[in-house]
Amino acid sequence: MNHPSIDPLLHGSSAVRRRAMAKAITLLESTRPDHRAQADELLTALLPHTGRALRLGISGVPGVGKSTFIEALGLHLIREHALKVAVLAIDPSSTVSGGSILGDKTRMEQLSNEQNAYIRPSPSGGTLGGVAEKTRESMLVCEAAGYNVVIVETVGVGQSEIAVHGMTDMFCVLQLPNAGDDLQAIKKGVMELADLVVINKADIDPHAAMRAQAQITSSLRLLMLHGNPDHDWKAGLVWRPKVITLSALKGEGVDEFWAVVSEFRAMQTGSGRLTARRERQALAWMWERIDAGLKHAFRQHPQVQALLPRLQAEVAGGRLAPSTAARNLLAAQMDKAQAAID
Ligand code: GDP
Repeated sequence: MNHPSIDPLLHGSSAVRRRAMAKAITLLESTRPDHRAQADELLTALLPHTGRALRLGISGVPGVGKSTFIEALGLHLIREHALKVAVLAIDPSSTVSGGSILGDKTRMEQLSNEQNAYIRPSPSGGTLGGVAEKTRESMLVCEAAGYNVVIVETVGVGQSEIAVHGMTDMFCVLQLPNAGDDLQAIKKGVMELADLVVINKADIDPHAAMRAQAQITSSLRLLMLHGNPDHDWKAGLVWRPKVITLSALKGEGVDEFWAVVSEFRAMQTGSGRLTARRERQALAWMWERIDAGLKHAFRQHPQVQALLPRLQAEVAGGRLAPSTAARNLLAAQMDKAQAAID
């Protein structure tokens, strides 16, 4: 495959751009080492043309209404605000089985027929870190191609939410109205990440939705006292995570959602927090990939592979301390690496 020129991505007609995007993303998703080298060149060429989009993370359990909401939001942004909207996904189930909770093509049918929408299902196969990396890079392709809003969707299962939070400017969690009745059901770790909580399906029982809104608002207030540098309300109340109610099915509350996103965006850019968040993300991403790469190289190392079965058996059998085994294995790998340098 030739290195695709980025001109069609940047300047092509709508149809040409879409083809160029699909081609570029296919290259980024390829696992062939020669493709990877081309993909790195492509990314370097693209980078100066990226960064202008709003990167929006959307998470929630299956059935909460993510695709209904993203479709309603996407159509609203395209029709009312003349924006171009890309939708990417990280589907943790695809990393294990190649199956999909999120990625089937029948979702968001109306949105996918819009000229100014681009929808790409989750990459599949490999580790979650690998899938997330491909999605993050695809986001850059969308930005270079002029998409103003890139939505990254995932299901509410911990690690994948952290990955999406780690690549977006604003992270939104969708909840069902009854979640507020049982605060145990609200996963503290994820709520700490949320810049905005959306209680969907408010049309079914508006009172329950309002109750959930009040409960989640007060539990978020407690969470805010420690931790998230984007919220940081001890140091001057920069952003108090909001909780809104909405009906994705009826399209009610979508404009309010966008008003909150715009308010958050203005706060982020005005305070320099957007730059800071993206810098943190880029560096964290680099280190995450280094860690993954080192671990992979370590496991592939012949010396490590030779020693591993015996040492694992000894650790499992209680004859060798785990830390001693780890030191031996690390030393075996480093000796070999040192020998190569000498
Ligand atoms: P996802 O799995 O999170 O993507 O959820 P879907 O968007 O596929 O929605 C799951 C079901 O909930 C579908 O039958 C939707 O029609 C329904 N649904 C989504 N949003 C709403 C809403 O605001 N109100 C009501 N009553 N149903 C909704």
